[in-house]
Amino acid sequence: MLKLPERLILLALCSCFACAAAQQPHAAVPIVLRAARLLQVDSGIILRPGEILVTGDRISAVGSSVNHPQGAKIIDLGDVTLLPGLIDVHIHLFLHPGAEDLQTVEESVPWRTILAEQAAKADLLAGFTAERDMGTEGAGSADTAIRNAIDKGLIPGPRLRISGNAIDILGGHEDANRYNPAQHVLSNADYANSADELIAVMRAQHKEGADFAKIYETGHDRILSGELHTPYQYTQEQLAAAVQEAHRLGTVVAVHAMGEPGTLYAAQAGVASIDHATQLSDETMRLMRLKHIPAVPTFAIFDYFAHNRTTAAEAASEAALLDCKIREFKRQIAAGIPFAVGSDVGPFPHGTQAVELELMVRYGMSPLAVLQADMIEGARLLGWQGEIGELKPGYFADVIAVPGNPLDDITAVERVSFVMKNGQTVR
Ligand SMILES: [Zn+2]
Repeated sequence: MLKLPERLILLALCSCFACAAAQQPHAAVPIVLRAARLLQVDSGIILRPGEILVTGDRISAVGSSVNHPQGAKIIDLGDVTLLPGLIDVHIHLFLHPGAEDLQTVEESVPWRTILAEQAAKADLLAGFTAERDMGTEGAGSADTAIRNAIDKGLIPGPRLRISGNAIDILGGHEDANRYNPAQHVLSNADYANSADELIAVMRAQHKEGADFAKIYETGHDRILSGELHTPYQYTQEQLAAAVQEAHRLGTVVAVHAMGEPGTLYAAQAGVASIDHATQLSDETMRLMRLKHIPAVPTFAIFDYFAHNRTTAAEAASEAALLDCKIREFKRQIAAGIPFAVGSDVGPFPHGTQAVELELMVRYGMSPLAVLQADMIEGARLLGWQGEIGELKPGYFADVIAVPGNPLDDITAVERVSFVMKNGQTVR
């Protein structure tokens, strides 16, 4: 048996080798990507044609014509538009279509981890090169294995920010409320019932590898006469304690929060994003503008449920929720709050979530505004601003190609024909 210092040296050597393997330049040969069009997301200008010089895992040059170094590999993609890789800031790799509460009870964490690996691959092939996983829903910190395996190049997938389990109160949004209590069915989230417990859970999740904390702030939701009613779960003071702890750890808090007063408490506490954000008061929106807190509408999941419920009563209730959401979204656009793009994929099939961009355009935003929300706001929310989300020298070479012009027809992002991540062609 090795003494501790020797074991530490061996561990250090092992992790160095792992780093070396992961960080080796992926493309020894420079690559020039060429296409009929290239969108500059910040300005909305389309270059015709567009070229990108890729050296290793980074972009070295962008323009209508870039330097072609000796021996460079030229990839001419033809009549397509080059864009930065898509970003989804609200996903669940550990969920798949079918009864959400039952799959987390019936399926083992090892099985769910294998399905999550498949989900990560499906998302990447659909053009999503960066994502934020908003909770494993009862699989604890198993998402660290997926993130780390992707980072080491062992499995294909987007670059990930992960939360581990989400955090919830006893009897709250994610608790196993309708089961036989004698069976002791576990919650799909970690319990925290006070500021002290929030901090303790966040420390445990941080220890296990979480990049940020996902907190359920509202639920369950009911629509009465077209208005959303949803109880808050944590007070403003409790959320502020969580945000302070996250900042101490160098991370952030993201909340599931749909209506008042939960969204107001979240905005006052200074969370990083308000996800779902169905119904926001004027004061909440004022704070979101002031503190630059994006709303993440997640239309795709609401649309999916409105069209895929088994009973007429369920479908009617989901449709009422979607109607309320659409009406409120127009108010939010008019109020000028920031948006990021998240689909809540998992309960509907992974790899199909680019429909979120189509829905945001359908309900009131311009295609360019949605692409900016997705790529520029998304990169900022994930803490990768200046590294992803735009096609600029020095950024990671995360590039996709879509047919046609997405500024004329946003559904082009649902037909991604080419995907490069970290300078490596994956599709
Ligand atoms: Zn979610």
